[in-house]
Amino acid sequence: MKYAVPRGTKDILPDDTPLWQFIEDTCRETFGLFNYREIRTPIFEATDVFTRSIGYTTDIVKKEMYTFPDRKGRSLTLRPEATASVVRAGLENNLITPDNLLKVYYLGPMFRYERPQAGRQRQFHQAGVEAFGSADPALDAEMIQLSVKLFERLGLKELEVDINSVGCKKCQPAYREALKKYFESNLANLCGDCRQRFELNPLRILDCKEAHCRKYIEQAPAMVDHLDAECKAHFSQVVGWLDHLLVKYKINDRLVRGLDYYTRTAFEIVSKQLGAQNAVCGGGRYDDLVEEMGGKSVPAIGFAAGLERVVEILKAESRQSKIENRIGLFIATIGDEARQVGFHLLTKAREKGISADIDFQGKSLKAQMKAADRLGARYVYIIGDDELKNKSAVLKNMGTAEQKEVSFGELLSVFVK
Ligand code: ATP
Ligand code: MG
Repeated sequence: MKYAVPRGTKDILPDDTPLWQFIEDTCRETFGLFNYREIRTPIFEATDVFTRSIGYTTDIVKKEMYTFPDRKGRSLTLRPEATASVVRAGLENNLITPDNLLKVYYLGPMFRYERPQAGRQRQFHQAGVEAFGSADPALDAEMIQLSVKLFERLGLKELEVDINSVGCKKCQPAYREALKKYFESNLANLCGDCRQRFELNPLRILDCKEAHCRKYIEQAPAMVDHLDAECKAHFSQVVGWLDHLLVKYKINDRLVRGLDYYTRTAFEIVSKQLGAQNAVCGGGRYDDLVEEMGGKSVPAIGFAAGLERVVEILKAESRQSKIENRIGLFIATIGDEARQVGFHLLTKAREKGISADIDFQGKSLKAQMKAADRLGARYVYIIGDDELKNKSAVLKNMGTAEQKEVSFGELLSVFVK
């Protein structure tokens, strides 16, 4: 084989696209129920859009971005996530202002140079929502409820919602100090990455996935014990609203997110149906990001779901067999003249909205019947010389094998009832 798909990327082939379409449709529908509207931003942005917002000390900015100069030497980056792009677009188009409540969603590919493994690719797909213009804890709870509803509607089971508060600019510094003090004595036992994180941003250590680091992380001081009064009140109201909405959750005081812009509420949904990469969605509040990116002070919250991981779960449950790729009608023909008539009927069928096809490989009748079966055609219409004379042919129901004579003129009425 001369060419291969780039490492960490995958083709999504026609057998799988119906499952992807089901997932995308369910995302759009569910986001719509909560009054989110779609936004589409470019797949690449000026590199600065990401470096500043996501944070210089994060894994994403340090080692995972696809950054390249364009032909005029401008630094561009394939989006590793969409929040920064949405903020950029919202500000540029004046949609994000302190008095406007903006609810938007997106779907699409993201790019991170990560080590490919199950549930982790270099091009992967996310569906996410962002809400700007409110710090109301009810909005946090509504968004968590939305993410749970989404996965329920997709058919995922055994989900767990983890929530935490990561505080704000005012209370985080003291917590960072407390973490530094704690990790200082264990520094030699942490991985190389964590030793760097210790210098740059000790909060990042809590996100380390190395088993031997996790041992020390378990004992580390918790952010909840360092929240200031406002953050504490906000978190307890989020929890109160979740109780009110009957959303089940677990408070996980180790939870931090992989991006620097998060403040206060952070949440993740993990699925017990997945292996090591078990998070199907992550999100949280980012009350300072809009201002950091040049806007006014506008509080905001969002989450992103990883669609490959949803696909993995649904495939394991063989849900995709229910979503079949079928066509309505296959027209099998014998001889040139029959094929011409067949094409005419094919055109009419398509005009009526019936998905239909015909042979293009000079196949025998038997082989055409086989091809129709493989396509999952519901009906096959078989035209030969006699049929041309009588302007009538056999229509075979491929499900029941039942056959009946139907005239050319009546053919489409069988479908349109
Ligand atoms: P993880 O801890 O799994 O690396 P993250 O903290 O990097 O996730 P986010 O950046 O918040 O995650 O992305 C949200 C979701 O996108 C994740 O929960 C996951 O389902 C999915 N995701 C993130 N990175 C990848 C990837 N490289 N390949 C596939 N899915 C991914
Ligand atoms: Mg990650």
